[in-house]
Amino acid sequence: MDCCSTSSSLLTLSQALDKLLSQVEPVGQTELISLTQAANRITAQAITSPLNVPPFDNSAMDGYAVRRNEVTESAVLPVAGKAFAGQPFHGEWPAASCIRIMTGAPIPAGTDAVIMQEQAEIQENGVSFTAMPKAGQNVRLAGEDIRQGAEVLPAGSKLGVAQLPLLASLGVAQVTVHRRLKVALFSTGDELQTIGQPLQEGQIYDTNRFAVRLMLEKLDCEVIDLGIIRDNEAAIRDAFAKADVQADVVITSGGVSVGEADYTKQILDEMGKISFWKLAIKPGKPFAFGQLSHALFCGLPGNPVSAALTFYQLVQPLLMKLSGYSQWQKPRQISVKTTTALKKTPGRMDFQRGILSSNAQGELEVKTTGHQGSHVFSSFSQGNCFIVLEQERGPVAAGEWVTVEPFNSLLES
Ligand code: AMP
Ligand code: MG
Repeated sequence: MDCCSTSSSLLTLSQALDKLLSQVEPVGQTELISLTQAANRITAQAITSPLNVPPFDNSAMDGYAVRRNEVTESAVLPVAGKAFAGQPFHGEWPAASCIRIMTGAPIPAGTDAVIMQEQAEIQENGVSFTAMPKAGQNVRLAGEDIRQGAEVLPAGSKLGVAQLPLLASLGVAQVTVHRRLKVALFSTGDELQTIGQPLQEGQIYDTNRFAVRLMLEKLDCEVIDLGIIRDNEAAIRDAFAKADVQADVVITSGGVSVGEADYTKQILDEMGKISFWKLAIKPGKPFAFGQLSHALFCGLPGNPVSAALTFYQLVQPLLMKLSGYSQWQKPRQISVKTTTALKKTPGRMDFQRGILSSNAQGELEVKTTGHQGSHVFSSFSQGNCFIVLEQERGPVAAGEWVTVEPFNSLLES
């Protein structure tokens, strides 16, 4: 129960996050991989352009390449040749003539403007023009978009749909990325049953390992799933030892709340340096973090909503930093009105699950998903955001302004 803890003995989320992030550095090992295998990977070096983009001066319009001093209101210029995209004009270009040119075609040497065909009139002996061109008109210059040698992506970028086609357009076939993180995972609890097996008396299905595994896969980690470990000292010790040697990070669920913690604590103390934290957030008060002999350790609380929330708020940024990702930003928050009253007691920061939507006036508003118990996982499936209620805030009436944090891609379907 929370009745006896004072908020000063609890860590705020941002204190916990600062502590956590200050203790880790990105994994050092890198690998050179093909661009086609690079989706979701993190660049380990800045990527510079091997080319000018566009690679050569080319026409922005269908029209006529001209030398400006030959264009007058009365001039009729014969067409000396044609330049198409992929088929440059290399022929003779006599004085007082023009070249028919199409969009994307290389600009013939000597051209100083392209006149679009809408400003051209075909005459018997050539073409006349209805407008006088400005210098460089409709000419896209080599390197105008990206200069050869310019940085296109800094180190620590995630390679997604916005980045990979850009690299492809530059002919970058391979990239140096941080190696993927290896994360070992197990659930603790005598009451847990694996999905697909019938429930025996007093058993519940192991939700957390499934939830955490899905989130780890979304974060592009290699998952080492060690299953359900019974509340038994030897079994837990064995699981930690196995996990520690294989993984960069070991994540467990359950067994970190007061009472049970002593038990896990004893084993962890032998292997490394672990702190058991009490966080001033709801749900998710108990959380353990530290260093085993080799791997880092994150101990999530057993209640499924608490486990998912602490993973989202703490483990996600930790894994992002370890993975080498340098552009992690605090989750985006916005202020909106709640259309439903929200239960809240002062003392901890609440991360209630809400449904953010636009009303008839086009304004964003939020309502609760209902029951906010830390075992009610349906609040995640119904919700699309956290309603973040400040630590010292009390009950919230309908119509009050609240802070909302839309779920990021980790929780979006
Ligand atoms: P614990 O932190 O181990 O004391 O567990 C707190 C609550 O979460 C208890 O009701 C557990 O039964 C439940 N719980 C623990 N682990 C899981 C899990 N992997 N999946 C679903 N519920 C769990
Ligand atoms: Mg337990």
